[in-house]
Amino acid sequence: MSAEVLVEKKKLKTPPLDIHYLGDRALRQNAKRIAKVDREIRQLVKEMLQTMYSADGIGLAAPQVGIQKQLIVVDCEPDNPATPPLVLINPTIKQYSDDVCLFQEGCLSIPGVYMDVKRPEMIEVVYKDEQGRPQMMIATEMLSRAIQHEMDHLNGVLFVDRVENQLALTEELTKHKFSHRAVKPVAL
Ligand code: ZN
Repeated sequence: MSAEVLVEKKKLKTPPLDIHYLGDRALRQNAKRIAKVDREIRQLVKEMLQTMYSADGIGLAAPQVGIQKQLIVVDCEPDNPATPPLVLINPTIKQYSDDVCLFQEGCLSIPGVYMDVKRPEMIEVVYKDEQGRPQMMIATEMLSRAIQHEMDHLNGVLFVDRVENQLALTEELTKHKFSHRAVKPVAL
């Protein structure tokens, strides 16, 4: 991974970027493709990683910090200093498995709320890395889920939009001081 974006996996007292929360319009927009992966983008990647680790997250999408660009960062092993995080620029899912699975998700933009979401188990995704090189990956399990969750953010979709149990969702949101009116259910 490029040295320009390498950061220590630790919490900063003052993370460089502010995370937007459920109800904020920034989370409901369509992010734009990144035409050129340059130094400015790598600086953003670095700050997003620092912000993600500071918030104890395993993924962060640019719209969550108010930047409408197709960029996500993911690290399913935030406590392992040896594994580099993943940077996906302009990601596109080429293929989904027919198999779906149900698993609990949370989101840095909806702190405290955890709900089960059904998603395809496996995906094939193409993207550019932080150097602008085209990449392809087949992801399963936790990584597949994290990428799908973060990519939803690029289309203004949040995991709560995919929760089937509306009653339990409203209860969980209320408990954490969020309004269920901020949820925009997707056709399941
Ligand atoms: Zn999220």
